[in-house]
Amino acid sequence: MRRFLLDGTVLEEGDEGFQDLLTDAYREKVRPLCLCCQPPVPMYVADIGDQLVIKRMPLSGGKHDPACPSYEPPYELSGLGPLMGRAIKFDPTAGTASLKLDFSLSKRGAVARSDGSVASADSVRNETKKMSLRGLLHFLWHESGLTEWTAHWSGKRHWWQVYHHLSEAARLMEVRGEALADRLFIPEPFRTDDKAAIEQRRTQKLGVLFQVATGAKKLMVLIGEIKEFAEARNGRQVVIKHMPGFRLYLEEPAWRSLQRRFETELMLWQSTETSHLMAIMTIGGTPAGITTINEIALMAVTEQWLPIESAYEQLLVDRLGRLRSKSVKGLRFNLPRIHPLANAVLPEAMPLPCALYIVPPDAGDDFQAALGEMIDARPDLESWIWRVTEGEMPPLPA
Ligand SMILES: [Zn+2]
Repeated sequence: MRRFLLDGTVLEEGDEGFQDLLTDAYREKVRPLCLCCQPPVPMYVADIGDQLVIKRMPLSGGKHDPACPSYEPPYELSGLGPLMGRAIKFDPTAGTASLKLDFSLSKRGAVARSDGSVASADSVRNETKKMSLRGLLHFLWHESGLTEWTAHWSGKRHWWQVYHHLSEAARLMEVRGEALADRLFIPEPFRTDDKAAIEQRRTQKLGVLFQVATGAKKLMVLIGEIKEFAEARNGRQVVIKHMPGFRLYLEEPAWRSLQRRFETELMLWQSTETSHLMAIMTIGGTPAGITTINEIALMAVTEQWLPIESAYEQLLVDRLGRLRSKSVKGLRFNLPRIHPLANAVLPEAMPLPCALYIVPPDAGDDFQAALGEMIDARPDLESWIWRVTEGEMPPLPA
């Protein structure tokens, strides 16, 4: 149970009058302080689908006690570490993160059209200075808390939660001084009885794509779950869940390149009935009213919406998902696959939080050396290693 200092009052989540105080704090923009450690950690009150909750500010998870629900593992263990202070700059006063992106949100020329580019999965070119398309999706997932899991949440995470948490996380991010939320579209959970209103909100938000502009045309970022890549005369019609009747056009060369670059993600999606395939893309509009995909990247997630990048991770995440203690999935962001990362962390493990590493079959000497350095650099963590070539997954730490 979290304890907070809220406008001079110490209280626990669930105390009588907690929601009322939260409502006041939300209205007056008072920062609750988490009392898990000294000095207490500033947080903020967020409105998640009409419910007020206390959330950690961007990139502040490391300040909490490992036993606190708001704790997060050190950033150096995932692909987030190298981006900090470079592609991602945090403003502690405003509570916002400002991002430098490695892809454009505008397009020169009067007509935006698909040019067949597909975001590289492993953006080696700009590993730390700018965030790749996939890096942005990972960052939103991470800041939304969608990398965290305990068996207590079984059956309780659906698109409704994913949508609201992603939208809330985006509210605290900026790109070149502009709110990311203004340039981000995430389809809201679709309900047939609300169809007209939902479609109207969508048309309004995407309207910017079809404005006649003399200079660069604006693009938007769309994040959604892939329903199918339907065959089209030339290329594919991409169908997104919760957007019935809406089609995005992907040109044939881009589709071929997508299949190559995201072969693993597509295979993970096709091999498990319950998995989801997430896409992040920049989209533009043509004068004829067609929405085209400019750049696209994919991410496979499990039934619980936990990102996975290999069948080994899938096994690990399945096993962790049955634990009552919390696990946090590590994400790659811009890091290429040849770099090690903590595939997951068990923050509540005793006596120390435990980082879990998978050594894939193709890991070379560089990978082994980098892994050794990562482990040596964190004496405050236990480590667990599964060397895939040596056989079955070892038992998880207690
Ligand atoms: Zn805390």
